[in-house]
Amino acid sequence: MEILITNDDGIYAEGIYALACAMKKVGNVTVVAPDTQRSAVGHAITITDPLRVTPANRNGKFFGYAASGTPADCVKLGIKAIMKKRPDLVVSGINLGGNQAYNILYSGTVSGATEGALLGIPSMAVSLDTFKNPDFGPSAEFAVKLARQMARRSVPPGTLLNVNLPNIPARKIKGVRVTNQSRTCFNDWFDKRTDPHGNTYYWMTGDFKPKDADKASDLNALLAGYVSVTPIQFDLTDYKFISELESWDLA
Ligand code: MN
Repeated sequence: MEILITNDDGIYAEGIYALACAMKKVGNVTVVAPDTQRSAVGHAITITDPLRVTPANRNGKFFGYAASGTPADCVKLGIKAIMKKRPDLVVSGINLGGNQAYNILYSGTVSGATEGALLGIPSMAVSLDTFKNPDFGPSAEFAVKLARQMARRSVPPGTLLNVNLPNIPARKIKGVRVTNQSRTCFNDWFDKRTDPHGNTYYWMTGDFKPKDADKASDLNALLAGYVSVTPIQFDLTDYKFISELESWDLA
């Protein structure tokens, strides 16, 4: 089995190293990941600049290919330019920080997996719901388990799996829930500050744990100590609204 791995925290992040090492139990791993931190770039691609690709070592050994692009660029490059064989699976992560609710629209991690699914390859994104003291072990182990399932089963075309884990020891994880995306997003605002030259600047911050009444959501599964697996898709059409919109006076 050929596996392509990417992320948005950059090729030298801790999470992608844990993921790549674990995935070697499942197949041949090729890592193509951004050369720097690219979180929250969404599904951006690079079209006005060339993409530079350089070999990246970790712990004194060749680890993968560092690219001067986004996660979506990396998956395209991996599949269309770098890998000799088309991958059977694309895995993006393990992200430092959860990718749940509407926030996944901004996520580079999820977009890496979305690009894999767009190109017709079974894909998953894996994120760890913390920004502090991460333990990537349980997430890497779960990714292995899910990869084995994905090899035996099939995900519909146009669908990818968005996986999130709480940052608690494996023995404390209560189980796995198949969830829906929470219909909430960060409550964000801007800190208005002054730079050393007296100019105003803004820095986004916010409350990253919104409340959600939907018990079946990814957000609430994580809060309750479960692994969350959400099947998501990228056809953004509102099919229910099509016929009403057709009745508008648009001619
Ligand atoms: Mn990230």
